[in-house]
Amino acid sequence: MLFKNKKFERKVSLQKDVHDSILSYCQMKHPNEGILILKGKSKNGEIDVRGLVIPPFSESGPTFAGFPHSFLPFDTSYVGIVHSHPSGSAEPSVTDLHNFFGLVSMIVKSPYDDDSIFAWDRNGNPIPISIV
Ligand SMILES: [Zn+2]
Repeated sequence: MLFKNKKFERKVSLQKDVHDSILSYCQMKHPNEGILILKGKSKNGEIDVRGLVIPPFSESGPTFAGFPHSFLPFDTSYVGIVHSHPSGSAEPSVTDLHNFFGLVSMIVKSPYDDDSIFAWDRNGNPIPISIV
């Protein structure tokens, strides 16, 4: 795309129960990375996360979590992925940005508490999250 429209405010809203499920899933996977698909809707840059899907054929280790995107059924309700960083860093790695899927990439750092969830766009810019 050559011309960009005026940049619109990106925002992620996360349902409280989805937020809690993400945290407990990541705790369960620790010390390995956990990865989940985010389901929801997006409208005018606002991403509304309402559910989670465990990706098929996922693999994970202490520094790696992934799944072959080609196995994913085409589903417009998939808005992104969330994965954990047992190392405690919330920054997306180069690999994370390479494997970007959907509209948002959320990263949960250990110790997986309420302040451990961060959302990033395709370029590695932070997106504010509100718990609803
Ligand atoms: Zn990562």
